[in-house]
Amino acid sequence: MIVDHQGRQFKSLRVSITAACNYACTYCVPNGKKLVAAQDELTTDQLVRAVRLLISTVGIEKLRITGGEPLISPKFDSFLQGVSRLGLQDVSVTTNAQFLEKKATVLLENGIKRLNISLDTLNPLAFSKIARSGDLNTVLRGIETMLEAGVTLKINMVPLRSSNKDQILTLLRFCLARNIELRFIELMNMGHLQHSSTYQNEFVGQDEILQIIGEHYEFARTGSAYDSTSVRYEIIGPEADKHITGAGSRGITDETGRGHFGIIANESEPFCRSCTRLRLSSNGYLYGCLSNSRRHAIHPILEMEDDQAVSHLQAILSNALKDKQDKQFVGEYTVMKFIGG
Ligand code: SAM
Repeated sequence: MIVDHQGRQFKSLRVSITAACNYACTYCVPNGKKLVAAQDELTTDQLVRAVRLLISTVGIEKLRITGGEPLISPKFDSFLQGVSRLGLQDVSVTTNAQFLEKKATVLLENGIKRLNISLDTLNPLAFSKIARSGDLNTVLRGIETMLEAGVTLKINMVPLRSSNKDQILTLLRFCLARNIELRFIELMNMGHLQHSSTYQNEFVGQDEILQIIGEHYEFARTGSAYDSTSVRYEIIGPEADKHITGAGSRGITDETGRGHFGIIANESEPFCRSCTRLRLSSNGYLYGCLSNSRRHAIHPILEMEDDQAVSHLQAILSNALKDKQDKQFVGEYTVMKFIGG
């Protein structure tokens, strides 16, 4: 068993199937440059084999397909088909939802039951300003399509002081009315934000998010899974019901009849001590930590027979586990698109 001094193991894998993205979000990439695929990206077969070997080596249980933007990759359909046959407990996708309507059939046919959608605002102007591409209505249609198909959705929003802080409540109401769990991601000090005043100026932390929500909703902190990155809150009290009814609810989140939201509070409440994540980039490198640019090439391993490959992977993964931060996210120059967020 590969386990570190804090008892951490790799259980959850994120595979970035392409570095290319159809958006150029201000906090993710500099200069509005849309991202292109890395030159030496692994093929679908190599990526699926890598996942299979990682399952054999460390018992990966959960897989999240990410990017770049996974739904624009020509590899998406075949990769999803390939990994959906590997017996994982959970396969899900993180997407900006621009191609969700177009990919609905392949997602549903391959058993996708959960999706994470990145959506920072419901204001079309702010949307263009942040994503620097895409169309908000197309995203909203994609969301409705998935809800109608019974897929469980989470929406991830990165609150930024200058462009979408005013959308914290707007998005929360939108999500509560649709049985979607909204998760606020505290801005991470990565890529071009490292050593820049932009990071300090734009950062909106957990306390401030809670204060904004608290002016309109009563909520209470609730439990979340051991290796969850998000601090979870439950909306309680009559005020919540009033909002939900007013927004045209289709029903609320669980059997308690209450809605939830979460905060991925990487700065305010770091979750490194219980992190079980391993990341594989589209060009064949394993990353043990989002906040560490150390990476481990797996190309030679993909040329080996299974037995040999697993024993080499064991050595690599022991090293990759040492890359995890002890306590908290410290920031990194790595751009999120390479390792998929
Ligand atoms: N294109 C897909 C999407 O939009 O969900 C997957 C890749 S994207 C890099 C994954 C997540 O990383 C998105 O939710 C995005 O908001 C988040 N992200 C990117 N840069 C970030 C940063 N500096 N701080 C916090 N979240 C960031």
